[in-house]
Formats: sequence, structure tokens, C-alpha cells
Amino acid sequence: MIFLDNASTTSCLESSAEIVKNALVNNYLNPSSKYKEALITQRQLDSQRDILLGLVGANSREYGVIFTGSATEANNLVLSSSLSKHKDNIVSIGEHSSIYETAKYFNEEGRKVSFARLNENGELDKNELIKAITDKTAFLSFMLVSNETGAITSAEEIIKEAKKINPKLLVHVDAVQAFCKVDVNIKKLGADYLTLSSHKVHGPKGVGALIYKKSAKLEPQILGGGQEGGKRAGTENLPSILGFINSAKVMHDSLKENYNLVKEFKFNLVGSLDKLSKENDINLVINGNIKLSSPYILSVSFPGYKGEVILHSLEARDVLVGTGSACNSAHSGNRVLEAMGRTKSEVEGNIRLSFSAETPKLYNAQDVAEKIIGAVKSIKR
Ligand code: PLP
Repeated sequence: MIFLDNASTTSCLESSAEIVKNALVNNYLNPSSKYKEALITQRQLDSQRDILLGLVGANSREYGVIFTGSATEANNLVLSSSLSKHKDNIVSIGEHSSIYETAKYFNEEGRKVSFARLNENGELDKNELIKAITDKTAFLSFMLVSNETGAITSAEEIIKEAKKINPKLLVHVDAVQAFCKVDVNIKKLGADYLTLSSHKVHGPKGVGALIYKKSAKLEPQILGGGQEGGKRAGTENLPSILGFINSAKVMHDSLKENYNLVKEFKFNLVGSLDKLSKENDINLVINGNIKLSSPYILSVSFPGYKGEVILHSLEARDVLVGTGSACNSAHSGNRVLEAMGRTKSEVEGNIRLSFSAETPKLYNAQDVAEKIIGAVKSIKR
């Protein structure tokens, strides 16, 4: 199988799976229990927070970590807590549905949310966004790397300018597709909240994290227990947290080396796709700016074809790829590509290829391109 859907999930590192298993079987005490032995698990849990903070350039004096069941939960937590009920809130239209749909929900409930536009490369339109920020804007949320196109937001610049206009503005950055792939430093970014996910960095599924500035507002969403400093009730999933942090450390240590290998793979793949599509008279469109985007994600469209049909044609050839995020259940378009101004046939003919550090070691870009163009060519229109 050729797995090219790593933005949806990644394999768990063997070393992390071992750590999870060992903790489940041998280190299973509840960190909240009062006996001495449980104190060891509590300390272990707290040390995972410190390690994670270190990986994003933060320290426990200024920042806290809340482990959640997913990045989706972390995103819901920050929105339910920090979207202002009285002032204005801005959320990028290009967000993952765990932000976009949740923000829409709260907007319908009466909190005022406006959606910031994207440019043709899928990047947040910085000038428009900055113009929209006033002293009445309380909260801003956008992601660092788009799960759809790999577009990288110039977050540091945006946050600096936005906070110059309104120093009280709270900023959330969804760094799920950025963490361990590109540099993520919460202090340098100037963000108040940061979302991370374990299973996107070769950790176990079912763990996410919200890193927050201790001076920023954070109200719990799940009540009924004092865990996570009273900000997220429920017995902590220490085994999976240990697995997450192990994977994060391993992937973070090899970030630069992996980045270069994946970048080379992506460029070779684009080159081969371009050449083969021309030879076979197939129209190929690259969504976004490949030079400025994350090497881990490549969004391509084959106008005149349907993305889902291409996906299944590739599946029949043992190649697994993704299609983009739907606008909503009633509308089968793609919110992000539409926001970039893509045509209907470009939106319909879209597939997303996403890579991991393993991809360049396992597959040859020319072979992958041949499979993709072969799969498209075999579709009867
Ligand atoms: N945010 C982004 C940018 C994502 O790409 C994803 C998953 O694809 C999520 C949040 C949700 O992550 P999780 O699967 O941990 O809920």
C-alpha cells in the first residue's frame, strides 16, 4: 500500500506503542489517587507537560498544557472559553471543521464571529485581516499550516500587527499540521493558545493538547473533576500522553532532516506529475504556492474529473489519498478551495496528497506520479 494521506493520520512509532502498552499494563495508577505510588504517575504526567512546552519554545512559568482527547476537543475548548460573548471575534474561513463549524455554531448562538478571507494561494489575506481588527476585536483564530493546501500563515507578523492595534486581543493558532514539521514557537509567534494533535506526529490516536498562556482566559468545557488544573475533567490518559510525547520528541529531533527530504520528494512529485499530465493530455492544477507551502501537503486538481472517483481509482491501485473538507453536509464543494477562488471543476476534481517523514524513504516520486496519472487516465468521462 502507498499511503499518501498523512494529514489525516500517521502510523504510531513502534517505540511509542511500546511505551503506551507498558504504561497500560504496568503503570496504570490514576494520577489523581492519594497514595504515594500514584504521586509518581502525577509527576510523570507533569513532566510530559514540561517536555511539550520545551518543544514549542515555552516554559511552565508563563504557559500551561491541557491534555485533551483530540485536537478537535482542544479547538472546541478554546472557542467555548474564549470566543467573546460581548465583543467581536474573527476566525479564518480556511480552518479545519473543528474550528470552522464550532465557530459557526457559537455565532448562531449569539457570539459575533466574522470569517477572514484567504488569498488565491490559500493563505490568510493579511491586509484584509489587519484592516478588520479594532479595539472591539476580542479573539482571533487561524492555523499555521493549512490541512488542505499546506499554505503557511505568516503568523508572527499577523499577531504582532494585530496586537499593536489591540493589545488585549487573544490569539489562537491551530498548529496541528505544523508541529514537528515546521518550526513552532509559541513565544516567537506571540500566540495565547496553541492546538496540537498526537496522531499527526506518529503518536497514538486519542490525545491532543491545548497550550495556553497562563494570563489568557481559559474556562473548562468538561466539568466534574479537578484534573488538568480544573480545566478539563476526566481521568488523564497517561499511557497515550507518554506515547504522544515520545513521538513528538523523536519527530522534533529530526524535523530539519525530514523537512528537506520531504521537500525534495514533493518537488520531484510535482515535476513528474506535470510532465506526465502534459504527455497524457490531462489538465493538472496545483492549488497553492508549492514553494511557500509546507512540503508535507500537496493539493492538486484534475478539472473534468471527480476527486472521489480519482480517490477510488487510486485505491484500486493500492494508493490511498485524501479529498478535501466538504463545505457542509448539504453542499459537497470544498470550502477552502472555493475561498481561494478555484473554479467549480477545479474544486470537484481535487485530491489531497500528504506525506510523512517516511514517505521519501518508502516510495519513489516518479512511480507515485505514474500511478496517479494512470489512475486518472483510466477514468471514463
Ligand atoms: N486541526 C487541523 C488543522 C487538522 O488538520 C485536524 C485533523 O485533521 C484537526 C485540527 C483535528 O485533529 P484531531 O484528529 O486530533 O481531532
